[in-house]
Parts: sequence; structure tokens; C-alpha cells
Amino acid sequence: MTVQPNSVEARDQAYQLHSYTNARALERDGALVIDRGEGVYVYDNNGKRYIEAMSGLWSVAVGFGEKRLVDAAVRQMSILPYYHTFTGRTHGPSVDLAEKLIQMAPVPMSKVYFTNSGSEANDTAMKIVWYRSNALGKPEKKKIISRVKGYHGVTIASASLTGLPNNHRSFDLPLSNVLHTTCPHYRVFAQEGETEEDFVARCARDLEDLILKEGPDTVAAFIGEPVMGAGGVIVPPAGYWNAIQAVLRKYDILLIADEVICGFGRTGEMFGTTTYGLQPDIITVSKQLSSSYQPISALLINERVYAPLADESAKIGTFGHGFTASGHPVAAAVVLENLAIIEERDLVGNVRELSPLFIKRLKALEAHPLAVEARGVGLIGALELHPRDGFAAGQLGPKFAALMLDKGVIGRAIGDSIALCPPLIVDEQQINTIFDTFEASLDAFAKEIGAA
Ligand code: PMP
Repeated sequence: MTVQPNSVEARDQAYQLHSYTNARALERDGALVIDRGEGVYVYDNNGKRYIEAMSGLWSVAVGFGEKRLVDAAVRQMSILPYYHTFTGRTHGPSVDLAEKLIQMAPVPMSKVYFTNSGSEANDTAMKIVWYRSNALGKPEKKKIISRVKGYHGVTIASASLTGLPNNHRSFDLPLSNVLHTTCPHYRVFAQEGETEEDFVARCARDLEDLILKEGPDTVAAFIGEPVMGAGGVIVPPAGYWNAIQAVLRKYDILLIADEVICGFGRTGEMFGTTTYGLQPDIITVSKQLSSSYQPISALLINERVYAPLADESAKIGTFGHGFTASGHPVAAAVVLENLAIIEERDLVGNVRELSPLFIKRLKALEAHPLAVEARGVGLIGALELHPRDGFAAGQLGPKFAALMLDKGVIGRAIGDSIALCPPLIVDEQQINTIFDTFEASLDAFAKEIGAA
């Protein structure tokens, strides 16, 4: 791409440091400028249309340009544009939303705590777990177990929970009291001759071995995404969550379900917790919560977590935690409207109805000579490309995603996997277009890299 002087691209290069980007490559190549969106589509500054088959960052459930969310924001802005929930203050939108989330919760929950991003929600979850252990007179019970390839965010605590090298390397992370156990990706992590059932049993055994090695009295919580997203869309094998939860119960370890991607319909149930039979003590949500029209996230905590926390706050005199924008009234109003749309239009029903087509077409790509594995559930999936001579691991994915982008479909390269996670409002025809383009792109890519 040639970047014109004084263009948006040039000023972007001049002034902005980007997330998840090679800064030197951006200085050379420039960024793609997205100007507007409508439904499942976004348009760049040359007017080219793309199907946003990643919903932005796994998040725009109701699609781009939803007027009801705009109106909800404007309405709330004109009544009360800001107030906080510190020191015994509150406001209607945060109360309405807390009540709504408790009603929607997939397992009995006591209280909602508002934060502004998935990272902040998981960071707060870790602090709450520590606070609770101190409240219970177990100051040594502080370690948190996460999984290799888990993704929980990028703050110092949540990046530590994340089990991906790029989030640790050169940041001096993870923190020493965060441990990572086996990733439930059968094809990659199974040992020679291990059946899927054996593999699940070993995942549970690895977890138990780690707990015993560390000392059960030092382990406070386990955090996991029902389906791992940013680690490459890793769908757990049958029986995995039951086996893991049996170990957690045995050693009195809390379960934190990170529903930041799965929450609000992605897996074909309102929560991944229901799809996989989880019994979490803490649930973190964000992304589809507001369809990302506003930055907001939340923790749902059960009585086991809330009661000691409340006692400790009474002892100390305050729960010394909170963000200026926690439960922001405009964000809360937008979330309430977004959840109303998800329910009124039965978007979870739409996921269930279209998932068989989505999965069938995804699985069909597995037969392509470039592919090694297709994984998916509900309306989230990924196709992993075969390693190839002449390409380092992780090089093929971004090259392929760039080619598919050129053909008008936005997917996301995660190493050599290409993830898809379309808005929940997607229809049958759009799903077929996504996969027709994916297939055509695979054929074109095979020609380009000489593998036809
Ligand atoms: N948890 C999960 C499962 C996520 O997918 C993400 C974001 N991709 C996060 C946490 C972090 O969210 P945020 O980027 O809003 O901090």
C-alpha cells in the first residue's frame, strides 16, 4: 500500500501506537482504515465493503450501525451522562443492569460488579479471590491456575493469567503466583496413542498433580474460557469440564468462568457455562455484553465469594477497589438495550439455527489440501492450516487472512489458524458467502504458495 502524505493512514503512522501490531511494519505498510459499518458489513475509506466475520474482536453481536443502541446512549447522555457507584452512590441504569444480569445468570449469583474491559474484569476477579482468602483467614491460599493458550487479557494480572508467550515475553510476566496447566487441545497436546477420553483424564490428572505439587492450601482459583478463543478457538473435548471441576471441588478451589467471548449466545446457549455444564463461582463478561458499542464489563459473583468479601470490607471499613467509570450510566443503558435486542430477536435461537450450516461448511474446509483441522461450536470456529516448508510457524495465517481480506471477508489469523466469529445477526446467505470466499481464498492461496 502506498501511503499518501497527510492521509489518515499517514497521520496514523505518525501518531498512533497500535495494539497487537509490529510497530516497524506499520510504519512501513500503514493500517487499514475502517470508516463505517452496517449490519454484518464494514466499509473502508475507499468505500470497499467487507463482511466482518470476526464481529470486530468477537464482540459486535447485533451488528454495526444498530440505531436502537445509538438512541439508548443519546437518551441516557441527556438525562445523566455520568455518575459513579463509589461511597454509597448509585444510579438507575447500573441498578437495572445488575438486576438483569443476576436474572440472566446461568447459575445462582449474588452480586454484579462493573468494570470496563475484559482485562479489568479478570484482574478484579484475581483481586477478589485474594481478598476473599484473606477474609477467610487463609492468607497462603492465593495461587491461580490458568491454562496454556488461555486468554484473559493484558493488565499485569490478566496478562499473567493469559497463557500465550507474546503476552509475557519482554513484559517480565507472568506473576509468580499464576500457574498454567495443560491446554485441552487434543490434536496438539495428546500424547502418542492417547484416546480423547484418556487425554481428558490426563488433563484432570495434570491439574491435580500441579495442585498437589504447589500444595492444595495455596491454590485459590482456576480460571478458564468455556471455549478458548484468542488461543485459537479450542473447543474442549467431551467430558473435559466435568473432569476439571471434579478436581477443583476436591481441593476447594473456586472456578472463574471467563465468558468474555462465549457470553450472550456465541456457543448456542446464552452462556458457555450452560453449554459445558460449568458451576462457576465468578463469571466475567464483556464484548457482546454491549456489542462493544461501549466499553463495559462485569463480574457476577456468588454468595461463597460475596459473603466473606462483604465481611472483610466491614472489618477494613471499605472494599478498596473501583474504577471511575464502573457501571457508567451510558454504557449500562446501551447494554440494557443490547440485551433487549438479543432477547427480542432471539439471536441465541439464530445461533442454534445457523450453527449446523456454519459447522458443516467449516468442517468441509478440513478436506482442503492446505488445512489440518477445523474446530467450532455455535457460531465460532477456526480452520488451522498445515505447516509448510519455507514458512515459519505463524507465518501462513496472517498471509492467508490478508488474501481473504482482499476478497472482502475479515477473519482473524491466530498463528496458522483462521478464526471466524460472525455477528449473531448473520443470515444463511451471509454464512454461505463467508465460506464461499474462504474456499476460493484457500484455492488462490494454494496457487500463490505453490501447493495446488
Ligand atoms: N477474556 C477473554 C476470553 C477475551 O477474549 C478477551 C479479549 N479478547 C479478554 C478477556 C480481554 O478483554 P479486553 O480486551 O476487553 O481487555
